Amino acid sequence: MKKTFVNDEKIMEVVRTYPTPFHLYDEAGIRRTARDLLKAFSWNPGFKEYFAVKATPEPAILKILKEEGCGCDCASLTEMMLADRCGFSGSEIMFSSSDTPAEEYLYAYEHDAVINLDDISHIAFLKKILPAFPKKMSCRYNPGGVFTLGESGEGFQVMDTPEDSKFGMTRKQIFEAFRQLKALGVEDFGIHAFLASNTLSDEYYPALAKIIFQLAADLQKETGCHVTFVNLSGGVGIPYRPEDRKNDIFAIGEGVHRVYDEILTNTGMNDVAVYTELGRYMLGSNGCLVTKVLHLKHTYRDYAGVDANSAHLMRPAIYGAYHHITVVGKEHLPHDHVYDITGSLCENNDKLAVQRALPELEEGDLLVIHDTGAHGASMGFNYNGKLRGAGILLCSDGSTKLIRRAETPEDYFRTMIF
Ligand SMILES: *Cc1c(COP(=O)(O)O)cnc(C)c1O
Repeated sequence: MKKTFVNDEKIMEVVRTYPTPFHLYDEAGIRRTARDLLKAFSWNPGFKEYFAVKATPEPAILKILKEEGCGCDCASLTEMMLADRCGFSGSEIMFSSSDTPAEEYLYAYEHDAVINLDDISHIAFLKKILPAFPKKMSCRYNPGGVFTLGESGEGFQVMDTPEDSKFGMTRKQIFEAFRQLKALGVEDFGIHAFLASNTLSDEYYPALAKIIFQLAADLQKETGCHVTFVNLSGGVGIPYRPEDRKNDIFAIGEGVHRVYDEILTNTGMNDVAVYTELGRYMLGSNGCLVTKVLHLKHTYRDYAGVDANSAHLMRPAIYGAYHHITVVGKEHLPHDHVYDITGSLCENNDKLAVQRALPELEEGDLLVIHDTGAHGASMGFNYNGKLRGAGILLCSDGSTKLIRRAETPEDYFRTMIF
């Protein structure tokens, strides 16, 4: 039986204080996840996790991660401003963006963030807008083709198509980019790559590391550029479905360690720092969405209309993503009713679950939608005049605290000109 970090009693207690719907985050779980990650990579003295801010742009959570020694991975001006306001500075901020506007590069430069270039053409762009080149820079690599791992009877464990991805440079371009950057005064070089999302295999990071470490060795040898860090980026997944396996972060860290020794230590490059930019792995299972059943409707299907909608959790609507749902106080009952769990948007894909077997529902039932801590609230939008919801932190001492208030109609009208 799949569980979240809160039991039913706690949910009932929180609901007495805060109206549904809200995202609830688990401070203890976030700290534990961060500590385990750091421990798993403690063999690498320069290791740093740059939390992918887009996953959960919450000041209270960013501050917790900062206390645990993490930096921030930002992809926009406002994400960098948020990181700045949460106390991150200089090389604690990785700026991994694409199609980047000039003012965002300038902001990154002025705040000494580490710039990760998505394309070789951006070198000429930066020449026009920056007073000088930073000493430390990174380039994003895209090996093209199809990336697969772990063929089994049922297909591949991991499969993604870098070739279709808009991100990163080709091998030829990254060699040329390093040469150009070196001529412009860059001294510390990094390589970044993101090949597959939400992977459920302890072999993803090691396989990715093998590709980037080898590239790092080739680049350093052929261009004379000093590679000082490799960024394995995001992509380590979480078990959204009850039958999914949970990644073993210690096995992942050891797997990367093995490849590091094989390729880098053997070539005398044992000063290379390993960075990660995990979002989902850090926060996904450390958050859930609590919502209440408003209406039950029986037509050609059975529908349970809840007070949350896709503005609180868009992943099911846009990716067909699965989020497990438990019903407070009813988990012991037979799951013999099948529902579409809907929100109130005028879009038929505004469903948080489709054809889901659950216990029989009644008006007022509380549903806990699992694993919404990353790429959940952050994807919220205002379509149909929907307002984004609140965020509550379940603190390590068991107390709760509001970390984001729900939007009000005033927020919705703020940018309108009448
Ligand atoms: C989204 C993103 C991440 C985080 O991805 P997860 O799937 O949450 O691990 C990391 N780096 C970059 C550049 C990203 O765009």
